[in-house]
Amino acid sequence: MGAGRSTGPCRRCDWSVKSTRLRICAAKRRYPTQEQAQAAVEQATIILRPYRCDRCGQFHLTRRTKGKRIARPAG
Ligand SMILES: [Zn+2]
Repeated sequence: MGAGRSTGPCRRCDWSVKSTRLRICAAKRRYPTQEQAQAAVEQATIILRPYRCDRCGQFHLTRRTKGKRIARPAG
């Protein structure tokens, strides 16, 4: 047993997804607290959104591409 060596990321399994997340995690700036992430958001010139990373447990910033727009008047 133990012959399951993969030579590269599998496109059909979760491995590549996790790998991508790891690379994003490593490349992105990390903020230890949501407050610090939020402060960075307010300093940025583009709209960003802090989210907690399940890899490192800290916060990264992501661009809001598909935000939920709640601009619909009730009634
Ligand atoms: Zn991370």
